[in-house]
Amino acid sequence: MSEKFNGSFTQQEPIPQAGIDAAMAVLRHGRLHRYNLAEGETGEVALLEQEFAAFTGAKYCLAVTSGGYAMATALRAAGVKPGDPVLSNAFTLAPVPGAIAGVGAVPAFVEVTEDLTLDLDDLKARIAASGARVLLLSHMRGHICDMDALMAICDAAGVTVVEDCAHTMGAEWRGTPSGRHGIAGCYSTQTYKHMNSGEGGFLVTDDADLAARAVILSGSYMLYGRHKAAPPPEAFETVRYQTPNMSGRMDNLRAAILRPQLRALPDQCARWNDRYRVIEDGLRDTPGLRTIPRPANESYVGSSFQFLLPGWDAPRLRDVLARCHARGVELKWFGAEEPVAFTSRYDSWRYAPEQHLPQTDRVLSGLIDMRIPLTFSPQDCAQIARIIRAEVSAVWQAAPG
Ligand SMILES: *Cc1c(COP(=O)(O)O)cnc(C)c1O
Repeated sequence: MSEKFNGSFTQQEPIPQAGIDAAMAVLRHGRLHRYNLAEGETGEVALLEQEFAAFTGAKYCLAVTSGGYAMATALRAAGVKPGDPVLSNAFTLAPVPGAIAGVGAVPAFVEVTEDLTLDLDDLKARIAASGARVLLLSHMRGHICDMDALMAICDAAGVTVVEDCAHTMGAEWRGTPSGRHGIAGCYSTQTYKHMNSGEGGFLVTDDADLAARAVILSGSYMLYGRHKAAPPPEAFETVRYQTPNMSGRMDNLRAAILRPQLRALPDQCARWNDRYRVIEDGLRDTPGLRTIPRPANESYVGSSFQFLLPGWDAPRLRDVLARCHARGVELKWFGAEEPVAFTSRYDSWRYAPEQHLPQTDRVLSGLIDMRIPLTFSPQDCAQIARIIRAEVSAVWQAAPG
């Protein structure tokens, strides 16, 4: 009998007890709105913003309703106008082009490499061809491109970089936290990311003007003085008259849940990486399978795992997925023609102008993706790798190449 995995790929860990207790305290006093404060009280959201700013080393932090909201707000606060082209990864998740479309701008996609990062040569070409002045850079599935090279290209071309760090909260490039290379970094605290408040997000920046705009955009009314990680009142002097209120505030209940999770984040990242390395070791040198090399300058958080079955045709790929699924291992394939569940491709985002990215098509046609929830033990991860290895090998041996 072949072994079967019985875990759930969508089951996260419970909220830590300290978070449950803090949430109960908020429920008991009833002041859930971030600006509803007792005399002398700072409030959970303002404290969380202060703590997340310190965690990333940013001057300013704003907590909002989602990662998608953080990205759209960053673009708007950076001055993106309706009709502007905004560059972004062709390989990313739907909320990324959605944030660009949300400000009325037009996504211009850039090719992905076999290492699942933005293709920097193609970026140069597309900056020139599109005339875009903003790049919404997505560190999709936690793979960070050469940030030194990327920033050199963008700085030379006068392109502003906003980072989507939904999968790189806690990650670094050459010692600098992800989200701290461009003008702003955006994070998500949605259930499947590195901290879980159901929904939620952060925007961090050192730019006082951008931060002030973002605070007003998020729906601060004239209560921005109650923030602890926002710029001083002077930064709001003209901004407060010029910036619309587009409600997207975080509330004290979610912030209460998140604060203990932020304290635990470095340990959680280490636990993810233990699991990631077990899977990587288990799949290494499987014939027909390519693991993704991780550069020495990248400190990643292995909350999901990707590998390529390069050049495999669709029937054999589907066979691998079905065989793994039958043994309890849920894999996602980015090569499917139709978008399924969370997985969609640039060619299904048809509100964007039609674009052809042959290299991305080729990479995605062999790309397999898997979540690693922390409810999996390292032993679970070893078993998952054994199952994938066995099924990939079986299909490969039947028809190699
Ligand atoms: C989840 C995700 C987002 C957006 O997060 P939400 O909080 O769900 O809006 C952005 N980018 C990527 C790559 C994501 O996976």
